[in-house]
Amino acid sequence: MSDVRTEIRELGEFGLIDHLNEKVILKNASSLKGIGDDAAVIEAGDHVKVVTTDLLLEGVHFDLSYAPLTHVGFKAVAVNVSDIAAMNAIPKQITVSIALSNRFSVEAVDDLYAGINAACEHYGVDLVGGDTTASRGGLVISITAIGEAQKDQITYRSGAKVNDILCVTGDLGSALIGLQILEREKQVYLANPDMKPELSKYDVVTGRQLKPDARMDIIHELREMGVVPTCMMDVSDGLASEIFHICKASGVGATIYEDKLPIDKQTFDTAVELNLDPITCVLNGGEDYELLFTIDQKDFAKLEKHPDIHFIGHMTKAEEGKFLVTKSGTAVQLKAQGWKHF
Ligand code: ADP
Ligand code: MG
Repeated sequence: MSDVRTEIRELGEFGLIDHLNEKVILKNASSLKGIGDDAAVIEAGDHVKVVTTDLLLEGVHFDLSYAPLTHVGFKAVAVNVSDIAAMNAIPKQITVSIALSNRFSVEAVDDLYAGINAACEHYGVDLVGGDTTASRGGLVISITAIGEAQKDQITYRSGAKVNDILCVTGDLGSALIGLQILEREKQVYLANPDMKPELSKYDVVTGRQLKPDARMDIIHELREMGVVPTCMMDVSDGLASEIFHICKASGVGATIYEDKLPIDKQTFDTAVELNLDPITCVLNGGEDYELLFTIDQKDFAKLEKHPDIHFIGHMTKAEEGKFLVTKSGTAVQLKAQGWKHF
């Protein structure tokens, strides 16, 4: 033990993971990819398995005063499936570990599992195990997901090349705006419990926060169209932060265009109502669970007409940096603000 004390926030979440990874040496030839992508990749005969895990804590990742347990269960599965999708793989199995305090009844656990089972049905995965233990501080859920793919279908964060087109699915920023609305209504309710929150106007954004859907639909469509992205990851920490990950892993730069960034109308209007800049929400909002990927220019024609894939920019040489071209044509440096845990 040394006397030196370094605060975790000095490294940040990603700095800490890099720091831990420095001491890890892979021993087995079957460990094709360890720490550093959306999922690990493991050789399994004629195909590969991908493995990812996520930990969700009550009070940090979900708030049961507005998140129904069924939605929490569904979301806990969906966020793992999203990381399997990000590797261009098909999810097959999950394990579910829970820690419960005595606040929770059997009926409450049934509600949680109703959501977990619904997600297993939705994504075609089998619940094959887990662990159950006591907790002193509310509910903890940890899910591990296992998926499959052919080796040459796997999409790493490191595969983007100069001139590849940068694509994103769906729209961005909605889950962050949904969270702001749910938190605002919670405060209103706490101040005056007789007030019934009026949330129907915000159904899209609150839905995106409470019950996100992993984009397995896109993975299946890419296969049907015969397109293997050159790199891919899911957007869990904010678009700008994820672009930084891709650029770092692939050794490239990126230019994106403000007028190409997808934002839903309700998300835009609600951001304005909350005095938030909609573009900042798109760039830095967390928990979108959309897919961010790059394609070779030769594949553009195959995806061009897809209604839910947006072409937001292209990859450049690393020394050209990372830029957002605003609607007025000014290039501003991208900042990876991301979703800070520490
Ligand atoms: P994602 O947002 O896609 O879930 P993370 O940012 O959580 O990915 O993790 C990035 C990488 O770091 C992944 O490969 C993950 O498995 C790995 N990782 C995260 N935390 C740890 C840890 N405590 N020990 C080892 N590997 C970790
Ligand atoms: Mg991910």
